[in-house]
Amino acid sequence: MKIRVAACVLALSALVSTDLSAGAAPPGSAEEHMAKAKEAAGMDFTGLLSQLCVTPDVFIGGGSNTNIPPRAAWYAEPVKVFDNFYFLGTKTHGAWALNTSDGIILIDTVFNYAAEAELVDGLKTLGLDPAKVKYVLISHGHPDRIGGARLLQERFGAKVVVSGEDGAAIDKMTDVPGGKPKADIIVKDGEKITLGDGAVTLVSTPGHTVGTTSFIFTVKEGGKPVTVVYQGGMALPGSGAPALTSYLTSQRKLAGLAEAANASVALTTHTMGDNTQVKLRLMAARKAGEANPFELGKQGVARYFTVGAECAEAALARLKRPGA
Ligand SMILES: [Zn+2]
Repeated sequence: MKIRVAACVLALSALVSTDLSAGAAPPGSAEEHMAKAKEAAGMDFTGLLSQLCVTPDVFIGGGSNTNIPPRAAWYAEPVKVFDNFYFLGTKTHGAWALNTSDGIILIDTVFNYAAEAELVDGLKTLGLDPAKVKYVLISHGHPDRIGGARLLQERFGAKVVVSGEDGAAIDKMTDVPGGKPKADIIVKDGEKITLGDGAVTLVSTPGHTVGTTSFIFTVKEGGKPVTVVYQGGMALPGSGAPALTSYLTSQRKLAGLAEAANASVALTTHTMGDNTQVKLRLMAARKAGEANPFELGKQGVARYFTVGAECAEAALARLKRPGA
């Protein structure tokens, strides 16, 4: 296994160094931005770098509503990551639960095909009661974010929080497995969803979609507060320069807010981007007193956002000079 992992990393670095030769890259060129992204990524964000900079047009999404992979290809065990914060996603899609003194706030809800197993059964496996889910925060209106929202709304009375723009996009969707969630609360930029001793700040970060929302909140590690930033839409938009510019602006905005909040953990919608699956394995091997593998520190969080910003810059430069 070690040899296979090393081979993959070598293959990636070979690809990256071919494509991202910093050398004498002209200022402002795609090559220069990609070199900066590569430097920021280091070995922490190779998945993010490969997705956003190297092959942004080949999205590894983990199926669709109509192309459902076999369970073994998507199912991931639920994991307690911090004292009051839990991973509930699939192998490729992030979904998280913040447990508060007055109930649970869920962040994103995977594809419908995985919702019952990962969210409802996942919470039960962790010793949490799905009936205590009070809020479901939807980062954006794509099927891999909203799949379990209607279920949680109908079965447990959870309130769905989504932006006005993406709520409208969801309303227009057809053939939504499990049904479309209704927006109970419309996101206002900078507002907080507060529940018991927990609070999540909602940050409008358009780009991936017009109404993408990101989240900043505090979890506990050994009783001490740790601030998390969750980028609500990882992949670059493929719809041209205005959306890419929007993504870039949002990336910088969220990076600034994360820094001001002393965020030391960066998560996103896809596990390849925040390296969640690797970190979950490291959690399993963690010994008492060792650092939580999800804690990147402030510098690590800053590097996370630099990768996205530089890859967006590279994509914009490529639009100006096709083939670069
Ligand atoms: Zn999406």
